[in-house]
Amino acid sequence: MKTQAAVVVETGKPIEIQELTLDKPREGEVLIQYTHAGLCHSDVHIAHGDLEARLPMVLGHEGAGIIQEVGPGVTRVKVGDHVVCSFIPNCGSCRYCANGQQSICDMGATILEGYLPGERFPITGPLGDYGAMCMLGTFSQYGVIHQNSCVKVDDDLPLEKAVLVGCGVPTGWGLR
Ligand SMILES: [Zn+2]
Ligand SMILES: [Zn+2]
Repeated sequence: MKTQAAVVVETGKPIEIQELTLDKPREGEVLIQYTHAGLCHSDVHIAHGDLEARLPMVLGHEGAGIIQEVGPGVTRVKVGDHVVCSFIPNCGSCRYCANGQQSICDMGATILEGYLPGERFPITGPLGDYGAMCMLGTFSQYGVIHQNSCVKVDDDLPLEKAVLVGCGVPTGWGLR
């Protein structure tokens, strides 16, 4: 399917809106429709080149939305679930997750490369493979992300407020 997204092609240049192609979700992955996203200074750092990332990259790491499709083996969420995205995934089984330190989960090692586990790039476009910031890329209409990046929230929780818990609130409060 197609999605419009805000992309950093080259640092120091304006962010570009591009039409990109999204692959279907594979093992452990989900298709999400992003309903809300927040702009954080880390996005600006990547655009300016202060924070080095693999390019091209779809920006955005604070996001919330609704699950549209799930790949094989997905157990954490189902179609129709409202979710807030976590800018660092949590696998639940690495030594850090097992210690209650999900904020430094091993899966988060590639958040600035922007691919999913197995160097998998579900987003492609005119410049080839596109990474997604923090394995999310929330400045896009849709995304294919890992289930370990999703936190299900109650349906009656307003997503325009819940989205702020995706980065701003924990960053300000302090990750432990
Ligand atoms: Zn942030
Ligand atoms: Zn982990």
